[in-house]
Amino acid sequence: MPYWQELTHKQFVKACHETEVAVLMTGALEAHGDHLPLGSDNLLPAYLAENVAAKTKALVLPIIPFGESWTFEQHEGTVTVDPATLLAFYGDIMGSVFHHGFRFIVALNGHGGNSSLLQLAARKATMGSERSVIIVNWWTDLAKDVKQSILETPEGHAAEDETSEMMHIRPELVDKSSYAVSDVRMKYTIVSARYREELFPSAVHGDPTRATPEKGKRIMERAAEELLELIAQLERGELPLKKVG
Ligand SMILES: [Zn+2]
Repeated sequence: MPYWQELTHKQFVKACHETEVAVLMTGALEAHGDHLPLGSDNLLPAYLAENVAAKTKALVLPIIPFGESWTFEQHEGTVTVDPATLLAFYGDIMGSVFHHGFRFIVALNGHGGNSSLLQLAARKATMGSERSVIIVNWWTDLAKDVKQSILETPEGHAAEDETSEMMHIRPELVDKSSYAVSDVRMKYTIVSARYREELFPSAVHGDPTRATPEKGKRIMERAAEELLELIAQLERGELPLKKVG
């Protein structure tokens, strides 16, 4: 039930008394090869957040559907936001959400380009307070064990992992006749506007041909489980820290 935008002002005040956790989804609208939809980085975290909304009291904010997509901006359909704009935008939203008394914001992020900006915005938004932002880069932070055991090829962009996930949640949006494989390897992080297409041909990095809906189902189920565990932990007032040794 607790989708922020579905509550009235009065219901919201009541809901705020029952949780200290807000979930902020951040995604992107960008090319994902010729076989996945432009909104894959929005659809996947939104699917995970449905569980949160259904099974916890945490309040789920509407998704921010545009991200930092410089890498794929030359591909048709990609909409990219300047990093400075996005940084300020994330910071404003975090500040405003915290203003309502929340102690934790779970930034459920669906897109790599947003990660560092979320971190920078969070540093500022949490200064001088007891508040915390927990950034969940879901495709790397969740379901690691399952991915390790079932994926046959490395994780990537529009690769086996992401294609499997989309085949599970929205099979009708996956065009299996348009797979492209790209295994360009980089020992270092190469940043070059001129060579973007060579580095990520067709906005693909990896091998989608091994994708199956079954793999996607297992990844998404495990990811949802872990996300619910995290929210439960935060609802108990605990930060997700693992002590080693
Ligand atoms: Zn993606």
